[in-house]
Amino acid sequence: MAEIRSPRLLMEECRRYTAQLSELRMLLEERLHAARAELARTRPSAVRVRQARLDVAAIEAALERMDRGLYGTCTRCEAFLPLDRLRLAPHVQQCASCAGETRLSA
Ligand SMILES: [Zn+2]
Repeated sequence: MAEIRSPRLLMEECRRYTAQLSELRMLLEERLHAARAELARTRPSAVRVRQARLDVAAIEAALERMDRGLYGTCTRCEAFLPLDRLRLAPHVQQCASCAGETRLSA
């Protein structure tokens, strides 16, 4: 049976999600800035350039998903991504299972 919640609780939930999204957007923008700064270094190593380019692409894709209202769900199975996972790696777009990180779970 669907849970019935008061408008006040729904508004609180909405505010909480909006605050979490703002926090994650800030994290993404900080990391984008850092990755672009790495690319702008005068003599970066090839490995660092490759990693910085991958970071920039992943972060830009995450920001685009945020703008389209798709951020926070797995791109494969559409499950919600845990906030802890997003705080650690805000550019991640797959759940641990789809990313192949849960080989030990039955
Ligand atoms: Zn998934």
